[in-house]
Amino acid sequence: LPTMIIVGRPNVGKSALFNRLIRRREALVYNTPNDHVTRDIREGVAKLGDMRFRVLDSAGLETAATSGSVLSRTTKMTGNVLGRSQFAVFLIDVRDGLQPLDLEVGKWLRKHAPGIHTILVMNKSESLDVQSGYLNSAIGEAHALGFGDPIPISAETGLGMAELYEALRPLLEDYMLRILNEKPGEDNASSDVEETKLPLQLAIVGRPNVGKSTLLNALLQQERVLVGPEAGLTRDSIRAQFEFQGRTIYLVDTAGWLQRSGREKGPSSLSITQSKKSLMRAHIIALVLDGEEIAKARCSMKHAEVVIARQAVEEGRGLVVIVNKMDVLRGKQNSELYEKVKKAVPEEIQTLIPQVTGIPVVFVSALEGKGCTAVMRQVVDTYQKWCLRLPTACLNRWLQKVMSRHSWKDLATQPKIRYFTQVKARPPTFVAFVRGNTELPDTDIRFITKSLKEDFDMGGIPIRIMQRLVP
Ligand code: GDP
Repeated sequence: LPTMIIVGRPNVGKSALFNRLIRRREALVYNTPNDHVTRDIREGVAKLGDMRFRVLDSAGLETAATSGSVLSRTTKMTGNVLGRSQFAVFLIDVRDGLQPLDLEVGKWLRKHAPGIHTILVMNKSESLDVQSGYLNSAIGEAHALGFGDPIPISAETGLGMAELYEALRPLLEDYMLRILNEKPGEDNASSDVEETKLPLQLAIVGRPNVGKSTLLNALLQQERVLVGPEAGLTRDSIRAQFEFQGRTIYLVDTAGWLQRSGREKGPSSLSITQSKKSLMRAHIIALVLDGEEIAKARCSMKHAEVVIARQAVEEGRGLVVIVNKMDVLRGKQNSELYEKVKKAVPEEIQTLIPQVTGIPVVFVSALEGKGCTAVMRQVVDTYQKWCLRLPTACLNRWLQKVMSRHSWKDLATQPKIRYFTQVKARPPTFVAFVRGNTELPDTDIRFITKSLKEDFDMGGIPIRIMQRLVP
């Protein structure tokens, strides 16, 4: 099991969080700062959503103020267990504000746990309010610790556990993937690599004969092909890897996606679960359509293609649509058709997948090798948007402006969002903390989504907004 340690100065609520994670409420949690209840390291198996991991409750990191023996004992012990942990939750207390001891814990973590992925968590947030202005300053202050934006939680009430889950899940998944593929003796200290610098996993999918192989070959001819898959993925799942503008691209094999459904056997032969599985392997799905066919037909996308495009979006993948064989339509007598196709495809995609506006469409000729760079630029651009992280303070400032811009149907809605935060990227996922006991209506969520896309240039990728009701 992966191991996560909870660290923080005394009385920030480490034991309360520990108890909540292992679902053991009866354990003692004292509320007296001078009484170091948690002197020993406790260990348990955490259950958070569908995730299981080992969790360690470190004793408070006492400073010189405490007796020397306790200090050395605790620090030594914590140091020992740090070596066993892959993740750390650095807990602070929003009600106390940042204390000198918090800074020391931060320093200590940086020194002793440079390879451990640390998540900053702000406890006792149950009474926070975005309107008060205190929240943003608390976040800004916490940000200065250098561990990114804090996740507000309340270990007492359970607020924010879903967000903690969302923050931890990609880390745990990455970790499991690395463990599964690790070659012995390999350096695995890559956990703090910036997400956008990680290899981009691209799947090229489409019906038979639309030109996937031709496109693949054209791409590989133009880009620098790298030999052998890098560590981190199994050999079977990568078809090829190459470099585009200094970035490593993995072409993931999607097990002949749509190939089997071809030969007009009908959509029933398309195994949805199978394709969903392979879809989760890729970050970006490049769906190839046949431009020549589209010019002849009344509509651009076949049923199976629509299914895949929708699935990609539903699964939160980035989607880039490629219309191939445009060379056939370039001749004089065909120029009208050429223009028709260029206009029709984006329109139809917008109609069929209304939940994501601005899905990029690239027109290419794989046969002539034309448009390959444009394809890769779109792929990388979409990936970067997909990885985008917006700082919480900036989001809440933005939210206040946006709230005044919207003609809210229900005027009472406006002050209802107390706080807005991005809990994860890939794809960008946000949580709106809504006051009261009813969720915001879809129209409001759509408005917020649209504004986010416009103001932060996030068109073309799926964005998720979750709601949490708070008192
Ligand atoms: P796949 O089944 O999707 O991998 O399709 P292939 O790459 O095997 O291509 C199917 C057929 O379409 C082949 O005869 C290709 O030569 C042809 N083809 C592929 N790309 C283009 C293109 O850009 N223009 C034209 N005119 N033909 C293409």
